[in-house]
This record gives sequence, structure tokens and C-alpha cells, in this order.
Amino acid sequence: MFPYTIIIGLETHVQLLTKSKLFCGCGTTFGESPNTQICPVCLGLPGALPVINRDAYYLAVKAACALQCEISRNTKWDRKNYYYPDLPKGFQTSQFDYPVGVGGRLTITDPADAEKQREIGLFRVHLEEDAGKSMHDEEADKKSSMQSTRIDLNRAGMPLLEIVSKPDMRSPDEAYAYLTELKLLLMYIGVSDCNMQEGSLRCDANINLHIAPSPENKLKETLKTPIIEIKNLNSFRAVRAALAYEANRQCQCFLDDEYGGDFAKQTWLWDEAKQITRQMRSKEESSDYRYFPEPDLLPATITDEEIAEIQRSIEHRKPSVVRKRLAEQYQLSAYDSDVIVNAGIETAEYFFTLADKSGDAKQSANWLTQEVMRILNQQNIPIEEFPVSADVLAELIAAINAGKAPRNQAKAVFAEMLKSKESIDVLIQKLGIASIPQEKLDKIAEQIIAENPNVIAEILQGKVKAIGSLIGKAKKLDKNIDPAVFEACLKAKINVK
Ligand SMILES: [Zn+2]
Repeated sequence: MFPYTIIIGLETHVQLLTKSKLFCGCGTTFGESPNTQICPVCLGLPGALPVINRDAYYLAVKAACALQCEISRNTKWDRKNYYYPDLPKGFQTSQFDYPVGVGGRLTITDPADAEKQREIGLFRVHLEEDAGKSMHDEEADKKSSMQSTRIDLNRAGMPLLEIVSKPDMRSPDEAYAYLTELKLLLMYIGVSDCNMQEGSLRCDANINLHIAPSPENKLKETLKTPIIEIKNLNSFRAVRAALAYEANRQCQCFLDDEYGGDFAKQTWLWDEAKQITRQMRSKEESSDYRYFPEPDLLPATITDEEIAEIQRSIEHRKPSVVRKRLAEQYQLSAYDSDVIVNAGIETAEYFFTLADKSGDAKQSANWLTQEVMRILNQQNIPIEEFPVSADVLAELIAAINAGKAPRNQAKAVFAEMLKSKESIDVLIQKLGIASIPQEKLDKIAEQIIAENPNVIAEILQGKVKAIGSLIGKAKKLDKNIDPAVFEACLKAKINVK
């Protein structure tokens, strides 16, 4: 084989979390009956006039700020002309030469080396409206010689943010990492729910290979294979699989000498069932769309103060900032930190309260990532619905650390907390597991020492393991004895370390 570089760029569309559409007052609820969230504006009826949804515009600026773009102080809208059955207007209102944000970048962890970071550049971030949804009607086709398509225009006019990356990714794994981090960031700052099943995050991938000259391939200069845009990618896994397939396919095409001088960009589809890519059509150039300024919408402007305010509002909500805080302020391991960050900002905030109130970050991380998350998974509920608040769980951690109840009984108290709203002290009393007072513990230790001189002699000779049998005897005297606490007490009395 010979060396080649995989060049990947991604175009991602996310639906913004607004109550109404981009240019009209229609609702944005997912799953409503077809064609019930429509009006003359989103249908593009003659005479209907669009008005910009200021919330959508601010969310777009927020995302562009989080992605470190240069924010356009003046932005305008343009008509992108094309005809499609689910686009009754005959054009999509989008942004051509003055997008909301220009440039920008997203930092990801290098999938090949967790210690390293990679910066993925962005070309632009812009706002546009969604089109409707066409559904092929197979039942109707059986009865007729014509193909039928049903169209639901509820989605027409939904606010979309398009994020166009530079071709900076070098492997399918990097594309996967980019999408994961982008989704996390947009969810953290409350711009989109990024729900792929509901279509609020969609992605098209561009890929080609740069094949460097080498003795094996006899090239005189670097050969760039045609850029293939892959559509119909329904999950991050599909993106990764399609890119890996496509890189191999392009390499094979080169080996088979199939590049006969046609290097035009093409559009291909990912076939999820067969796990292959298939050619669809040649890609339109932007000149084919005949962009021109939308005459019915005023340009939008934003001031430096407004941008600074948006920047301030998102600074502490960035996953990268939360990760840094978990590592530096709370000394969490990269593993614990990842589990918490990936679970979402609400989980991270639960952790901060838990750690601050209990004063024990390590135990807080253990409780959260093990017990709490186990129950959230079992019951399939978000942390906002978890019955034990961070304040209450913090009391348990603090009580255990203060020796109010034995550590080995902590889970029993926790189980009780899930059912009742009583205070930690009441629960400890109710369960009869209050830690044994030191004087009582001393007495039990003295009694055990007096009754078992042979075992004590063995321990003093170095057979420290023999202490286990004494712990057993002590537990018979009082079942609430904490083995570790008792062992320490006994050792202190006979002067063994
Ligand atoms: Zn409407």
C-alpha cells in the first residue's frame, strides 16, 4: 500500500429550540398531525410577509459565539432558489454572503491519543428555514400506475442552524468525535436538543483522499480523488461507518484506475441496510441556486454589548470549561469527569452542588456516577426528576464522613432516602444504624481482648490476619459495628499497626 490522507468536512444542521418557526408564529412541536402547524407565511402564499423570529436569531448568535466565530454585526437573508415538492415557495430563505458567524473552531480530543487535542476549523454558521417532509406512499402506489408522495409541511419554516466545518478531519473517528462534541456544546448552551431521531440534528459528510506520490503508485504529484458528499446519515455511527466505507472505496477506485479525469463533486447516499454508499446525482454549484437578497425581510443587527452579554451567559456552560473545572477545582479523574460531562449540564450542576455541600468531591463523583446514574438508567428518567436532591445526598456523604453512621450502611440509608423525605438523622435512627459511640466501642474491644488471649498473642507475633475472627466475634456482640472502625480501635489498644 501507499500513504494517503483522508480529508473530511461536515455540514451539520440543527434545529433551534424556539417555540415558533423562523418567519411566522406557527408552533414547532414535534409529532403533531401532518399539516396542522402551517400558515400562509410558511406555505409561501402570495402576499404573505415573513417576520424574523428574534429568539432564533439570538440562539444562532449564541451558537456562533460558543463556536468562536466572528459574529456579523449586520446580517441579511437570501433566497436560495430550487424547486422541490416539499418546498412550496420555490425557494428556501437562507443566508448567502452575510452569515451569522464566520470562521470559528471546535476543539476535540484526538481519538488516537486522549492526551492530545485537535482543533477543527469552521467556515461559517448561518440560519435558514427547513423544508417540508415528503413521504413516499407505497400503499397508494399499489393501486395506481403513478408514484404518489405525501407531503407534511409542519417542518417547513422551522429554524435551522447550518454549521459548515473546514475539511480538517483526518479520520472517521475524528468526524465522530467532532459531532459528539458539537452536540454536547449545543445542548449545554440550550441552543438545540440535537435529537437525531426527531431530525433536530442532521449531518452530511464530504470526503476525499489526497494520495501522495510514492514508488508504488508512480504518481508525479499528489492526486486528489473527487469529493463525495454523503447524505442520508441517520446516526453518528452511520457517519463513521459511511466515511470508513467511502475512504476504502475511493482508495480501491484509484487502485483500479477508475478516475478517468472526472473530478467533479458528487452526491452519494448511505444505504444503512447494506452498509454501502450509492451515487445519487451530481452536486449543484451555488450558482445553480441563483441566490438573491430576500426583499421581504429586514437585515438584522446586533451590538457589541449584546454579543458580550451572550458571551458572558454561555462562558460557564461550555463542556470544555466544565471539564477543566472538574479536573482542576475538584481533582476528578479524566474518566469520572467524562462520565459526568457527557451526561449533560444538569448532571454537572448536580455534581457541583453535591461536591460543594458535602465537601468531598471524590465521594460525590462515586455516588453520582454509580448509584445515582444506575437508578436514572433503570427508571429511564433525567436527573431533574431524581427523587433525592443534591443537597440531601450531600448530607448523607457528610454524615458518613463525620462518622454518624457506618460507611457500610450508607447504601441502606440511600435506599431509604429514595422512598422517604425524612432527614438524614431521622433515617439513621429509624434504620437503627447510628454509629456506636466511642466508649461503647472501647468496651467491646476490651472485652474481646480479654476473652481471646491466644488470638491476641498470634496477632502480636505478626499474624495480623487473625484479627478477622475477632471482628466476627465483635459483630455478634453488636451488629452495627463497622469492621474498619473496630479494627482500627482494636489495633490501637494492642499497639499493632
Ligand atoms: Zn407558519
